[in-house]
Amino acid sequence: MIQQAARDFAQNELLPGVIERDEKMQFPTEQVRMMGELGFMGMMVDPQYGGGGMDTISYVLAMEEISKVEASCSVVMSVNNSLVCWGLETFGTEEQKQKYLTPLAKGEIIGAFCLSEPEAGSDATSQTTTAIEKDDHYLINGTKNWITNGGTASVYLVIAQTNRELGHRGINAFIVEQSWEGVTVGAKENKLGIRASDTHSIMFSDVKVPKENRIGEDGFGFKFAMKTLSGGRIGIAAQALGIASGAYELALAYSKERKAFGKPIADHQAIQFKLADMSTEIEAARLLVHKSAWLKDQHKNYDLIGSMAKVFASETAMKTTVEAVQVHGGYGYVKEYHVERLMRDAKITQIYEGTSEIQRIVISRSILR
Ligand SMILES: Cc1cc2nc3c(=O)[nH]c(=O)nc-3n(C[C@H](O)[C@H](O)[C@H](O)COP(=O)(O)OP(=O)(O)OC[C@H]3O[C@@H](n4cnc5c(N)ncnc54)[C@H](O)[C@@H]3O)c2cc1C
Repeated sequence: MIQQAARDFAQNELLPGVIERDEKMQFPTEQVRMMGELGFMGMMVDPQYGGGGMDTISYVLAMEEISKVEASCSVVMSVNNSLVCWGLETFGTEEQKQKYLTPLAKGEIIGAFCLSEPEAGSDATSQTTTAIEKDDHYLINGTKNWITNGGTASVYLVIAQTNRELGHRGINAFIVEQSWEGVTVGAKENKLGIRASDTHSIMFSDVKVPKENRIGEDGFGFKFAMKTLSGGRIGIAAQALGIASGAYELALAYSKERKAFGKPIADHQAIQFKLADMSTEIEAARLLVHKSAWLKDQHKNYDLIGSMAKVFASETAMKTTVEAVQVHGGYGYVKEYHVERLMRDAKITQIYEGTSEIQRIVISRSILR
């Protein structure tokens, strides 16, 4: 039912304007509002905090369907569900859950996750944003880069260094409201793909954050970020899977319609073999994505399989979308046929929430331990 609801929503509400939003870098405001109404913005959150009370399998099924059509929309969903809501529900206080998680899970407001900095991406330990303790509050100063939902989010989860001498054990995570004094949203990034999504730098200048907005114990911030991202990877893996399967479905349909040398191109073995490889790799990616989601639902360790799912699904997305453009020939190179957008969208899945190289580090460390 969830898969069907997400599929219907994607076909009926996302498909009609997707090309225009991509071209104009226009945030899908109305579509995100509808996702909130349909329960897609806080799918796994306990209903007592306004969520859908669903499992991770349901979440990845919905992510795949929405990503088949508009990855710019599914990244909003992914950040809100697996980073912001999950982080707050798992590690937040009761007050934080009542105040922030509930409107986030209902989709009444959107959240963002602020870890990356101009000089700290893969190496997230080298944070230069500081959070200095003063009486009943912290003062946050610094710049965060590449923040998804940066302009539209009301709530940011911000990672910052409190005690440099303690290294990553001196890092904290905070809930910061966009409307607070000292928060400045930079210009929207003009990107290769997921162009309708809202990516900004966020500047913090003497932002006063009450102590009750710190998440977890003093020094928990780095662990908070790593644990949250580990689950986030399952969402991005599902996004990559959706981009791949969306491109494959378009290529499959087109190959039966387009004729060359007196027969549908699907009757040429070179095209058949491309489709065979695409569908095989997509199926393997789907099994990894579902396994990682299932492990999470069973409260088993999902770090290794989640990284495997992310690296494999994102590389499958890249390969599949390039081949989908090839199957479409010249028509694949223009916007109308959707596969060129999916190809541009696929690339980001190899970069954010841990690049493919970082996933391989996680995997090799785990298997060599
Ligand atoms: C559209 C978009 C949205 C994003 N959204 C968010 C967001 O919402 N919140 C957030 O906090 N961040 C976000 N990011 C940031 C993203 O997570 C980082 O870009 C990513 O982690 C990589 O960091 P970097 O860009 O600094 O690259 P670097 O870390 O500088 O890496 C450059 C290259 O070196 C490689 N590399 C680095 N270290 C190693 C190593 N030890 N071994 C081998 N290779 C290595 C990398 O894999 C990469 O290929 C977003 C980025 C983009 C582009």
